[in-house]
Formats: sequence, C-alpha cells, structure tokens
Amino acid sequence: NRPARLQRSFISLREHTKHAQPIRVMQWNILAQALGEGKDGFVRCPLEALNWAERKYLILEEILTYRPDILCLQEVDHYFDTFQPVLSSLGYQSSFCPKPWSPCLDVENNNGPDGCALFFSRERFLLVSITHLRLSAMMLKTNQVAIVVTLRCRETGRLFCIAVTHLKARSGWEGLRSAQGSNLLQNLHRITMQSTVAEDQDAAAVLEGQGLPLIVCGDFNAEPSEDVYQRFASSPLGLDSAYKWLSSDGQSEPPYTSWKIRPSGESCHTLDYVWYSHDRFGVDAVLELPNEDQIGPDRLPSFHYPSDHLSLVCDFSFLEQPHRLL
Ligand code: NDP
Ligand code: CA
Repeated sequence: NRPARLQRSFISLREHTKHAQPIRVMQWNILAQALGEGKDGFVRCPLEALNWAERKYLILEEILTYRPDILCLQEVDHYFDTFQPVLSSLGYQSSFCPKPWSPCLDVENNNGPDGCALFFSRERFLLVSITHLRLSAMMLKTNQVAIVVTLRCRETGRLFCIAVTHLKARSGWEGLRSAQGSNLLQNLHRITMQSTVAEDQDAAAVLEGQGLPLIVCGDFNAEPSEDVYQRFASSPLGLDSAYKWLSSDGQSEPPYTSWKIRPSGESCHTLDYVWYSHDRFGVDAVLELPNEDQIGPDRLPSFHYPSDHLSLVCDFSFLEQPHRLL
C-alpha cells in the first residue's frame, strides 16, 4: 500500500521553435544505495523505504515519467547491474565515471563506488566525444569527478556539450568547491573550443571564439550565495541557471532542491543546478518542484520519493543565430 508519487507539472516559459523538438534534460542526485543505508543517517526515513529492490523502481519510474533526452545522475552505485542495462534497453547510450575514493566503499556489502553517470537518447543524438575529468583544486587531484560529452543532434546536425558533476559536500569545504568549480570551468572552456569537425557551422562558431553551446548539470553542494555559484554565474562561458525561471521574477533560485532530516537536524538547501549557455539555448519549460505539504513532515527520502534530492527537468531549444557568418 504505497502512496502515489509526487505530482509535478511543467511550467511553460516560451513557445518552442517550430521545427526542432526541444531537448529535455534531467539532473538528479539519486542517493547512492550504500550511503543511504549505511552513512547518511536519515532518521525520519524508515529503512524499508530504502530497500534497493523497491527503491530502484521508484528511481526508474521518475526517469520514465519524464523521459529525458539526456539524463545526468550523481551518486550512482548501481550502474553496471541496473541503470546501464535497463536504460540501454530503453534507447539510451551512457558513460559512468566513479569517484576515485567513493565513500560507498567504506560501507559493508557495498555495490562498488558511486559516481556520475550521463545517459543520452541514441535516437536523438550521435556521440562525438566523451571526457572523464578528475577535478583538481590548487593543482591537487580531488575525490570529485565530471563527465563532459559532445553530442550531435541528429535532427538539426548541431553540436553541443553536456556535462555532469558532483562537487565536494559539507560545510567548511566552500573553498574546495570553488576551486573545483574553476577547474571544471577551465576544462569546459577547453572542450567547448575544440571542434572535431571543421566544415560545419558549429566549427565556425568555435573559430569565432564562441565555442560550442553547453549545458552543465550538477549537485554543486553549494547554495547560490557560495563562491562556486558566483563563479559559474559570471564565467566567460555565458552560463545561466535554468531553474531561476521558476521564480516570479526569473532572478532567484528555488527555495530547495534537497530536504532531509539527520540527527544534526533538518537540512533544506538549494544545491543542484542546470546551467546553460544563455545566448545559445532558450528554456522552453521547467518541471515545478513539490511543495512542503507534498514532501511531507518527514521530508526526503521517503516511501513517496527515493532520494533526498529532487530531480530537475528542463526543456531547451537552440536559439536562432542571426549573427552567424555561415
Ligand atoms: P563528500 O564529503 O563529498 O561526501 C560524500 C557523500 O556524503 C556525498 O554523497 C554527500 O551527499 C554525503 N553527505 C553529505 N553530508 C553528509 C552528512 N552530514 N552525513 C552523511 N553523509 C553526508 O565525500 P568525499 O568524496 O570527500 O569522500 C569522503 C569520504 O570518502 C571519507 O569520509 C571516506 O569515507 C572516503 N575517502 C576515503 C579515502 C581513502 O583513502 N580510503 C580518501 C578519501 C575519501 P550530498 O552530495 O548529497 O550532500
Ligand atoms: Ca547524498
């Protein structure tokens, strides 16, 4: 006797371009199974709600409800036995990058390291390149990673990059997150400026110094007031955060993307973001977040909802490029 899933609707922001289908992107920290059962201390979540044999279907149900064209996940510790085979059979191609020293490995009966995973629709996109990054901070390698993928849209022929990351958690590590963010931005600058195909429009954009259009999904473990958020918002890559479009003025992030109760108390924070090149993409729609009553007094995760982070889903369309030389 399970309660129904959280009801969420898309907020429509603009008419999508007449020709091309929008690109639906989902960002979600799905909560590593080993961490949820072994380390997190979600004191108001019954252990039975974390049983993997059932919880995996809630995660898959959420993904299949919205059917994203691109899916960016953090805390994946069931890639090889669950997400890769299931989503492959549903038409997704994917890549997994484990954390070098995943805290999952400290948990008894763990299922291997957790990491970031990126899935994209084989029907809609052709893979051009994949880069796995181990993020550095002050020249030192850290325990955090990112995946950057360059895709070609089969329908329009257009190239773009999409990245997924999971920055260092916990308070006291703001400086490390900021350094990791800078390192990621540097790598994204380099990768979006490389084009493997010299004869097309997108290569021309690269030559003009504009680079490829970019989407970056992540659990940044940082509120908008933190340095790393400001770095992304003001970078030369021209990124904006899609979920600001949910607010009435289009200027503020949602009040939370993660809400949980640990022995230390209740923790309700905005930590997850979908950044996009604001001159290259328009945001057609964003999936609204559940309200406090829908989430319930015991917060997340729960029998209703499998993770302590909410999924973010947005529809993007390429903007016309009037200034193009070609
Ligand atoms: P992070 O500090 O980034 O956090 C790891 C995970 O813990 C995240 O997924 C995070 O979730 C979750 N988390 C955040 N806050 C809490 C909390 N208050 N209580 C419980 N879990 C929380 O991890 P690191 O990548 O820096 O790795 C740290 C751990 O990794 C160490 O504690 C150790 O176990 C292991 N390690 C082992 C090494 C070795 O040599 N063997 C070396 C380095 C690390 P979210 O992002 O959702 O907030
Ligand atoms: Ca977590």
